[in-house]
Amino acid sequence: MTLEYEIDDSVIKQIPFSVSHLRKFFASGKTRSIDWRVHQLQQLKKMLQENESRFFDALSLDLHKSEQEAWTSEVGFLVSDIKHTLKHIRHWSQPRMVPTPLFAQPGKSYSLPEPLGTVLIIGAWNYPIQLMLAPFIAAIAAGNCAIIKPSELAVNSATLLAELIPQYLDTDCYQVITGAVSETTALLQQRFEHIFYTGGETVAKIIMKAAAEHLTPVTLELGGKSPCIVDKDTNLKVTASRIVWSKWMNAGQTCIAPDYILVEEGFVDSLVSALRLKIEEFYGANAMESQDYGRIINLRHFDRLTQYLEGQNVVYGGYIDRNKKYFSPTIIVSQDDQSLVMQEEIFGPILVILPIKNKLDAVRFVNERAKPLALYLYTNDKEFETNVLQSTSSGNVGVNDGMMFMANANLPFGGVGHSGMGSYHGKTGFDTFSHLKTIMKRSFLFDVALRYPPFNRLKLNILRKLL
Ligand code: NAD
Repeated sequence: MTLEYEIDDSVIKQIPFSVSHLRKFFASGKTRSIDWRVHQLQQLKKMLQENESRFFDALSLDLHKSEQEAWTSEVGFLVSDIKHTLKHIRHWSQPRMVPTPLFAQPGKSYSLPEPLGTVLIIGAWNYPIQLMLAPFIAAIAAGNCAIIKPSELAVNSATLLAELIPQYLDTDCYQVITGAVSETTALLQQRFEHIFYTGGETVAKIIMKAAAEHLTPVTLELGGKSPCIVDKDTNLKVTASRIVWSKWMNAGQTCIAPDYILVEEGFVDSLVSALRLKIEEFYGANAMESQDYGRIINLRHFDRLTQYLEGQNVVYGGYIDRNKKYFSPTIIVSQDDQSLVMQEEIFGPILVILPIKNKLDAVRFVNERAKPLALYLYTNDKEFETNVLQSTSSGNVGVNDGMMFMANANLPFGGVGHSGMGSYHGKTGFDTFSHLKTIMKRSFLFDVALRYPPFNRLKLNILRKLL
């Protein structure tokens, strides 16, 4: 049965008490113990593993996610993230020693990661389990108390998280608040030590304004239009497989899905043919019958996507069924970079192909727009690759593959400019939820008087040589 989200006033009234409860337990020092954090992370892993099929069911109800996608991009992704964190948490928590200059000898200099306090994590609907729990894993590892607020749009996933988390984790330190605008607004009135938000630009501004009232730092994981540049000097078959995989996973509702492709005019037809072959190989001639093809989250997003097709040159797909929220894999070829579909982030199963005269024009095109979250480049041309990497700015880059950088916990993930601020995953996530406290410890052994008044020319000359 699909659930519906309903406003619950008692949740809103409870929020200030929940936050002060968590603050009290943070102050008790409970989360400082690494062993205690390890136990919480192990419990979270257990929760994911023991309830795998329930997560699959919720993701299927929310987005028609296949089991394989639900495992690779949500449950399995998180289990592997927890394993990585458990493997490194003791090392990440250690003092980070740095050299001490001669003038401060004898002495020791280091930074010590300490938890920030009580943090708020606000999730998005498109990967409702991954995007809620991946920052949560980092917050737990770093020793924080946390309130997590899943997106109300993926209501089955949100409800499941709210049911399971209190069964496995310590409720004195971690709470799930479900709800939408009213609940989030009530949460944002409270003071947190950090707010981690995943979602769109408009709400990000609301979050940042609310955070400014308390001088709370924010991490904003946003989106935007992620370009993909395809050079004709590429392995077309593999390129097509990787573009189709990364574009139509979750029916295109992925923040780092390629939004549009820049390709030289003479290569457009070959690329479109290669893409359609792969789409049909992956999802069949009618993707509606495929168990592996997702559905649009709700009718508001469905109608937004439908508008993008108006007056466009649809060269593949364009089949829709509003009752089933089914929107087929669709390709548009367009010269018009001012159309609605090129002005807004697509965030759905439409791929725009923009023919360009010369591949070098791609760099100019990308640089004339907001800095993207991801940029993709498919090429065998090393010189072109260097040119693109050096002359464009984006949160992340995939060269000759789509989205795979997400799967490497050693790489930070985050945006730049309008695609976000701050980053996470692996150690970067641990650091995002930590304060790296600077410590210099001096010995009482020598106390050179050079720095103390009264000053004179000799002291200054010696200092000039030393520093
Ligand atoms: P959404 O509608 O689920 O909103 C995100 C969160 O903001 C939800 O928890 C929601 O309850 C809350 N919210 C909504 N309106 C609010 C308001 N007025 N005040 C306070 N809180 C409010 O998600 P969305 O915005 O539709 O997400 C889509 C966007 O997120 C896209 O731009 C996508 O690219 C981006 N995204 C980015 C990442 C990333 O990792 N960088 C991941 C997924 C999605």
